[in-house]
Amino acid sequence: MAAEPSHLVSLTERAIAEIVDADTIHALNAVRSRYLGRKGEVTSVLRSLGDADPSERASLGQAANRAKQAIEDRVAARRGEIENAERNRALGRQSIDVTLPGAGPLAGRLHPISLVMRDMVEFFTGMGFSIEEGPEVETEYNNFEALNIPDEHPARDEQDTFYLEGGNLLRTHTSSVQIRAMTGREPPFRFIAPGRVYRHDLSPRHSPMFHQIEGFMVDEDVNFADLKGILYAFARHLMQGDPELRFRSNHFPFTEPSAEMDYSCRLCDGQGCKVCSHTGWMEWGGCGMIHPRVLDRCGIDSDRFQGFAFGMGIDRAALLRYGVPHLRLLFEGDLRFLEQI
Ligand SMILES: [Zn+2]
Repeated sequence: MAAEPSHLVSLTERAIAEIVDADTIHALNAVRSRYLGRKGEVTSVLRSLGDADPSERASLGQAANRAKQAIEDRVAARRGEIENAERNRALGRQSIDVTLPGAGPLAGRLHPISLVMRDMVEFFTGMGFSIEEGPEVETEYNNFEALNIPDEHPARDEQDTFYLEGGNLLRTHTSSVQIRAMTGREPPFRFIAPGRVYRHDLSPRHSPMFHQIEGFMVDEDVNFADLKGILYAFARHLMQGDPELRFRSNHFPFTEPSAEMDYSCRLCDGQGCKVCSHTGWMEWGGCGMIHPRVLDRCGIDSDRFQGFAFGMGIDRAALLRYGVPHLRLLFEGDLRFLEQI
């Protein structure tokens, strides 16, 4: 085979270099048209064959056709490369990186108050107490009257009650559940009543809505020593240690005798610190023997039966257990805070 005419060789090399440089379909089409288009360089060689020396015409024509075919082949190959690259770029924009950590479903969890409340319920049900519930919108009778707190009694003012229409109110304590649970029931029985209560009091240390747990037990020979025994066991369970309890004589209309209870400050071990106002003690709640008049109002023979009752806040127990510095954090519903617990 005759050597390719040198001008066709350099033309083909130039065309191939330009094809390799083209990085878009548009640029590639332009290169192809420059060489193979109607006025392209290879096309004009083929068109000028008629003017060529007849002895060279055939071999020149074959060489020009080989050049044309070589350029066509390179253009087709380059077109495939460019299209591939463009497809990969598009895929890259919408690709999924399987090495990234997955976005798992958001799982709910229990609120610190629910956790503490459940723990308390578990403790008392383990001691044979049943759970009683009552409505948060309560009658004046169940919240005050039946608990030996008549109209004009100073305890009504102390409790900063939210009164509603029709003689109802938002219960100020869970003690109202005592009345509902005891009325028409034959002792012996023992109940706890955890739940929300409301008082018109908003300060950094108080919330108008808070949680209490009430416990009571009625039987023929229940006494204050039983009450103390249960409270000591409860304190040890709740505070996960061995706190001291202190019972201070007090007056509540619905118990007689009555006591306020404190536990030794867990932060300073009773030595006195800022949290316990340097007393070494933290207030825990109130307790006492159920007043005979309350038993009578519920239709229970107070000559035969006696009972004890106690009540304490739940929220502070949650503060202490989870090291939460402010009560309001428990009620604001800020997930950034709640998710840490
Ligand atoms: Zn202290």
